[in-house]
Amino acid sequence: MSRPEQKSSVIVIGAGLGGLAAACTMAARGHKVTVLEANDWLGGKAAEWREGGYRFDMGPTILTVPRVLERVFSEAGVDMHERLDLRRLDPQWRCFFEDGQTLDLEENAERMAQVLESLCAEDGDGYRDLMETSRQLHETSERFFFWKSVGGIADTMDLRSTFTLATLRDVLRLRMDSTFAREIRKRIHNPQAAQMLDHLTQYVGSNPFQASAVLLGIADMQSHDGVWYPMGGTRAVPEALVRLGEELGAEFRTGVWVRRILTRNGRACGVLTGQGEVLEADVIISNMDSVRTMRELLAHVPSAGFERKWKRRRPACSGVVLYLGLDRTYDHLAHHDFVFSADPEEEFDAIYRRGVPAPDPTCYLAAPSRTDPDVAPEGGEALYVLVHTPYIHRGQNWQEMFPGYRQVILDKLKRCGRMPDLEERIRVEHHLTPLDIQERYSTLRGAIYGLASHGRLNGAFKPANRSAEVPGLYLAGGSAHPGAGMPMALMSGWIAADCADHDMVEARAS
Ligand SMILES: Cc1cc2nc3c(=O)[nH]c(=O)nc-3n(C[C@H](O)[C@H](O)[C@H](O)COP(=O)(O)OP(=O)(O)OC[C@H]3O[C@@H](n4cnc5c(N)ncnc54)[C@H](O)[C@@H]3O)c2cc1C
Repeated sequence: MSRPEQKSSVIVIGAGLGGLAAACTMAARGHKVTVLEANDWLGGKAAEWREGGYRFDMGPTILTVPRVLERVFSEAGVDMHERLDLRRLDPQWRCFFEDGQTLDLEENAERMAQVLESLCAEDGDGYRDLMETSRQLHETSERFFFWKSVGGIADTMDLRSTFTLATLRDVLRLRMDSTFAREIRKRIHNPQAAQMLDHLTQYVGSNPFQASAVLLGIADMQSHDGVWYPMGGTRAVPEALVRLGEELGAEFRTGVWVRRILTRNGRACGVLTGQGEVLEADVIISNMDSVRTMRELLAHVPSAGFERKWKRRRPACSGVVLYLGLDRTYDHLAHHDFVFSADPEEEFDAIYRRGVPAPDPTCYLAAPSRTDPDVAPEGGEALYVLVHTPYIHRGQNWQEMFPGYRQVILDKLKRCGRMPDLEERIRVEHHLTPLDIQERYSTLRGAIYGLASHGRLNGAFKPANRSAEVPGLYLAGGSAHPGAGMPMALMSGWIAADCADHDMVEARAS
């Protein structure tokens, strides 16, 4: 199939990682791309905050599966490693528990198995089996689930091809009858090790006791592909993508809120901005939350099918983030750390069932100065603290709730994170509440990771990238397939662009 002679025009709504990946891929394939971003920065949640010589990544801090980013750069024939200096981190996480124990998540699966064996004799083989299951799930996901638009089980299979026994085996491997936590606990008996592994579901902001077992594939992705820190912070990723997009001729406009997606004969044909400007395009790619795209930007289009499918799905969790510029470092911390709750079931029950902040929360910490000394003045630390909270529930006022919850978090870190002088060492401070996350990034009820991945059968599915309701519309970002987290949001952008590009080529050929 030949390339279109005349470039198609593409509007990308939002410049989060998904929007940027889509913009670069479309521009690399010769289309004319305009990105409209409501904020005055590009990168969405991958933002940064600087003050008094400290530099913080405000959103994502852990980069996994960098080959997704590599693929976006390779669309333009550019080697990602020429643009980004990535450092591999091992141990991947250090974990602190209330009883004073610590446990490192090691990249090497066999080394990790030996550590777990020393804690509980059966857990070494349990971990080996878990990682083998995870490898199979990852492989199956690569074949059925990744790099194409999927909105449900039927989309994972090419129904035109013969349904073989091998296909059936692959589908059964997806373990759609089980939950993430159940699969872990079948194999790992040490409760602290199980709690550490449960937190692989943090990338999708979901409760491991409700999340689909398919997500276990994350363990292999993280062990095999590593945990990375881009020098300059994760912020370096959107900066590199914007530069790539500009080199490819994409236009980036900030401070532009898109109010509506315009349709002609049911097909997306342009947008109306908050300033009243009408911009026409052949293709619209929305990086706005997928549910909000349908409900708010397309309120004039019947979307009963979309609502039927997704209205019962809850938003993923939100969070409180503290950015603490300290005048000291803590040598016992690794680059990434978890300070764990004493009772994970009670913690997840509070966040995901009762919809209240956990009284004894798990705190994720990033202490990047050991990898990147430029993040803080000499001898200091740019400590990042993320605590997952429920998405915003009716009647919750985070302006009132924040001061009390900040203190709960600091007390937890002082005690369980072994930083008793933490409060006295703060030189600069900033924070985000769920309300800030909702307002800054236009999320669904403050959700950080789109829709929760809850439900054994359907939990792993998100709205497909190629809209079934509105031809010409494509969805990209953490709230669309294949889901949230840096690599998945980037992949989502690539898939949206790939579908749009193919559809345009086909339309011109017919
Ligand atoms: C605190 C925090 C910590 C995280 N930690 C990690 C981590 O360690 N590792 C990891 O892999 N992931 C992490 N994530 C998740 C990861 O950041 C996201 O999944 C990913 O960045 C989402 O990208 P996105 O493409 O969905 O776009 P978003 O970042 O959600 O950006 C969407 C953009 O669209 C714009 N927009 C929306 N509507 C409109 C409109 N109508 N008109 C114009 N513009 C609009 C918004 O302003 C925004 O800039 C974290 C997220 C947060 C918030």
